Amino acid sequence: MVELQAADAQLDQLKHKLDTLPETQTVADLQSQYADLELKVGQAQANVADTSRELVKAEEAVNQVRARITKDQQLLDSGSVSSAKQLEDLQHEVASLQRRQSDLEDEQLEAMEVAEKAESEAADLTKQAAEIAASLEAAREAETKAKDDLDSQVKEAKQKRDTINDELGVTDLTKLYHKLRLDHGGVVAAKLKGDRCGACNLQLSPVDIKALKEAPADDVHRCDECRSILVVDGDQ
Ligand SMILES: [Zn+2]
Repeated sequence: MVELQAADAQLDQLKHKLDTLPETQTVADLQSQYADLELKVGQAQANVADTSRELVKAEEAVNQVRARITKDQQLLDSGSVSSAKQLEDLQHEVASLQRRQSDLEDEQLEAMEVAEKAESEAADLTKQAAEIAASLEAAREAETKAKDDLDSQVKEAKQKRDTINDELGVTDLTKLYHKLRLDHGGVVAAKLKGDRCGACNLQLSPVDIKALKEAPADDVHRCDECRSILVVDGDQ
């Protein structure tokens, strides 16, 4: 009985190990990091699109002003403007357009810097995401390996346990054991260790010990405290 309990306890332990694998936690952590990064990459890419649109706009604004300056300049150079007032107005306009061009060129430079920064941020995040993806793949492989190892340990432990169970056969004691395992799980059978219950360590009175030891071998004993089946030395 205690051999079966030990085999079941080992199986419980292996199953618990399987449920709480550190490799599984690592995979979950990396998955959540990857999801976060994917979100950030998406945001950074949207930012790249926005800032490059702004840059195109700034370039167009500069080009428009340049075109107007060229047009005005051509008009001035053509000599077709004869009125002094008109000439003066045109020259003023060119001067003011040139100031505007200089301002717009500053804005264009700024937009270029912003766009470059957005691109480098997106590139950094993409690189980080690729690194996490690689770690995640390695972690998944490690998890699969750990699970496979444990699975074969579980298989082996289960065979061992089934052999012990078959050898014990079906008796009132094994029926009770299986019922207790089903209802409560964990340790439900223990050896009497000296004058103490091997499961909960309760000390039994000398009278109880004497009664236990003198009882017929096929009597089922239970601990008063934890209700475990108590196996007395010499019993099965
Ligand atoms: Zn007990």
